[in-house]
Amino acid sequence: MAEKEKEKRGKYRGKRIKKKVCLFCADKSQFIDYKHIVELKSFTSERGKILPRRVSGCCAKHQRQITIAVKRARYLSLLPYVAS
Ligand SMILES: [Zn+2]
Repeated sequence: MAEKEKEKRGKYRGKRIKKKVCLFCADKSQFIDYKHIVELKSFTSERGKILPRRVSGCCAKHQRQITIAVKRARYLSLLPYVAS
């Protein structure tokens, strides 16, 4: 619903957002692991927040795995909860 509101306000006017294909569905050799910090970092914002699916372009299945992996990495202090 929030997305529709934004559309009405013309936030997405002009440039069409390219339909993203899930990175992990496209490349079956890749798998999500909490030890892959470099990969996980690309799915977090500079503040350390997990990117929403509409930004990361991942499918529900893999987005869920990313979320779990990031949270696990945070717990092991491999990733920051909040980047200063
Ligand atoms: Zn996927």
